[in-house]
Amino acid sequence: MSDHAAPARGTVLGIDIGGTKLAAALVSADGTILAGDRIRTPDGGADQVFAALGELIERVRGDATPLAVGIGSAGPLDQRHGLVSPVNIPGWRNFPLVDRVRALTGDVPVTLGMDGHCFALGEYWSGAGRGAKTLLGIVVSTGVGGGLVVDGKPLIGQSGNAAHIGHVVVDQDGEACACGSYGCVEAYASGPRMVARAKRRGWRTEEDVDAAVLAADAAAGDELALATFDDGAQALAAGIVATAVTVDLTTVVIGGGVAKAGPVLFDPVQAWVKRLAQLPFITELAVEPAQLDNAGLLGAAHQAWAALA
Ligand SMILES: [Zn+2]
Repeated sequence: MSDHAAPARGTVLGIDIGGTKLAAALVSADGTILAGDRIRTPDGGADQVFAALGELIERVRGDATPLAVGIGSAGPLDQRHGLVSPVNIPGWRNFPLVDRVRALTGDVPVTLGMDGHCFALGEYWSGAGRGAKTLLGIVVSTGVGGGLVVDGKPLIGQSGNAAHIGHVVVDQDGEACACGSYGCVEAYASGPRMVARAKRRGWRTEEDVDAAVLAADAAAGDELALATFDDGAQALAAGIVATAVTVDLTTVVIGGGVAKAGPVLFDPVQAWVKRLAQLPFITELAVEPAQLDNAGLLGAAHQAWAALA
């Protein structure tokens, strides 16, 4: 889908770095994608992965001269020094992504943000959270990540890691989490943790299956699958409500692979939020499915436009 009809002026370059795909696009000030493409994230060492990204950037940029570059990346990352160490890209550890991209694109502002923050910004800019006063975006996938947008600006935090909604503790006596704590949202709501929980209940114990199969079984009425989605939904709702009372949320947008489950996730999330959100200022809290399949990329571009403002 790479095409070079883009004007040479008035665009920024958005880049989205994930463990399964790398995407880049030229994006105008109103959020229109003028040229874009994506590739599978290659295996290999640091330079091999970057070479593939560099080719992608050149192809998408064509003859255009972007005014700024915005990068959204899976974490962890070191925003201050422009370094990334995405968990699912083992070739990049403290990789100087900002400097390497700037070497390709010239001396323009290059911003770097967490993928969850960019997801929230993208949905705020052009998706289900458009214009929300205080937005929480949640990505439910192999982990649970997210971002907050407050009065049109991402809440970054002092280390760049604000809005780790997956690690809000919703049961301090609960299951061990990969982060070292107990009872985090992610320990109940991530795809792999839901699959493991369902198997402990006796669901498809001998099979190598994923959260998409669990969702299909739940949609078909399987009680073990439904109970597991309800547990995940309860944890998500508890994390949402904790955040809502803390920052006075108006809107929640949920995306990511597990959110593609649709009503088997959203129905119980909405029911649990209704039950747990009792203070008057959060009883109208809206919980919506994400609308974009490229929110992270658009959010990265939004970040670049903000750097020019
Ligand atoms: Zn945790």
